[in-house]
Amino acid sequence: MNSILATFVGIDIGGTNTRLAVVDALGRVLADRRTDTPTGGDGEDLIRWLENAYHVCRGETEGQPPPAAIGAGVPGILEPGRSAVTRAVNLPFIEGLPLRDLIVERTGTVTILDSDAVAAAWGEFCAREQSPKRFAYVTIGTGVGAAVILDANVVRHTHHSAGHFGHLICDTTDDARECPCGARGCLEALVSGPALAQAARSANLEPDINEIERTSHEGDLEAARFINNAAKPLAIALLDLAHTYATDTVGIGGGVSDRLPSLAHTAAKRIEDANGTLKPDGLRIELTALGEYSGVVGAALLAAKHIRDRSRKE
Ligand SMILES: [Zn+2]
Repeated sequence: MNSILATFVGIDIGGTNTRLAVVDALGRVLADRRTDTPTGGDGEDLIRWLENAYHVCRGETEGQPPPAAIGAGVPGILEPGRSAVTRAVNLPFIEGLPLRDLIVERTGTVTILDSDAVAAAWGEFCAREQSPKRFAYVTIGTGVGAAVILDANVVRHTHHSAGHFGHLICDTTDDARECPCGARGCLEALVSGPALAQAARSANLEPDINEIERTSHEGDLEAARFINNAAKPLAIALLDLAHTYATDTVGIGGGVSDRLPSLAHTAAKRIEDANGTLKPDGLRIELTALGEYSGVVGAALLAAKHIRDRSRKE
């Protein structure tokens, strides 16, 4: 694709996959690379892959303006200066790694870090033709995260990270499933990819969510029951989010949701059918607009926003 607009690089480091893309100011992907997240060498394998992918994508977009900045979405809690991750339950080797400085060093380009949930939410917010006024975006993948955007501003919680919505407690029974964070009954322990695979095995189903999605459409009762059970805690968490922030739109995406869209549809139906006079009125539950690209496009557009905000201050 040809573009004469400024370009930015987005990086989406996930618990399972990592993607890097050159993106223009409208959020169009001009070149991209994806890999299984390299976990070896105490982070060096990841940094080396990012460096290589950056130069390969730069080569493929020769003739375009060079990237003005890099935005990287990371799965964890960032230190207050947003230069490194202090806690990443699904990717512990990046804890403490001076990620921002390493990317700057290898690419020579201004870099900002943000939470992967914020990046995905920003990408989805920008991708919607009519920007929602009060928007939340929930990503369901190896982990579960969410971020909130009110009046076009990212809501910042403590430690400059988004709130830890994946760890909203949705099951308070004594035998609730244990979460990677150590607590029991968190949303992440109930609907993340690994949690669903474990639940499928316990229900004597094939632990393959593509297969569960497919057989549910063929009328398989066990598959439908499985989706319904997972949709219950998700609906609770979505309602909690909607009540807390009075959101008008909640988007749902991430690898699990992309492959098991019935999960979000069923949760949306439960919310629609819920009783109670305080039920959020007109709340829209929508599937992702950008699919697997929301994180990487959002990270690039956050970098664009960073450059804009910085030049306004100067
Ligand atoms: Zn948890």
